[in-house]
Amino acid sequence: KELTDINALADEFLRLSYHGLRAKDKTFNANFLTDLDPSLPKIEIVPQDIGRVFLNLINNAFYACNEKSKLLRNSGKNVDYKPEVTVSTQLGDNELEINISDNGSGIPESIREKIFQPFFTTKPTGQGTGLGLSLSYDIVKAHGGALEVESENEKGTIFKIRLPISKKSP
Ligand code: ADP
Ligand code: MG
Repeated sequence: KELTDINALADEFLRLSYHGLRAKDKTFNANFLTDLDPSLPKIEIVPQDIGRVFLNLINNAFYACNEKSKLLRNSGKNVDYKPEVTVSTQLGDNELEINISDNGSGIPESIREKIFQPFFTTKPTGQGTGLGLSLSYDIVKAHGGALEVESENEKGTIFKIRLPISKKSP
């Protein structure tokens, strides 16, 4: 484990994800926003592991926005939709909270129970392994934290990561 600046890590992976997706798909278009609490203390984590969690949640968020975008475009309806992914951090009671939210397709109630199960995916073959969320859940758990989801159909989704601040952290 290393003493890590979560804001810097989150920001790095948000940019990485955005530029990676953009490079693969020129039609990919979404805004990314950050709302990072500058008062966060550094915490002891395995940065590569928590980075993986960020990357997976952010990729899922962009994917959901992109899907909604395509759906609206193909429906022929002239709806004004601005895909948006936001990463925010805040200091809680002995913990840090990182929220990754999108205004994408949302997660239908009927599958919300299943999304953390290994190999559960709604993506076409080749586009999803269904391992991202189950792996993310385990990584956050191993850090003594929690991973939760709130979603509203067609409005969007928020994934909340909570990580404890160890007593040793400054
Ligand atoms: P994968 O991305 O390979 O499908 P994940 O474990 O990362 O696997 O996600 C599992 C499923 O959860 C996805 O296929 C999708 O149906 C749903 N999901 C995850 N994140 C989102 C999101 N931000 N918006 C809508 N659906 C999501
Ligand atoms: Mg995924």
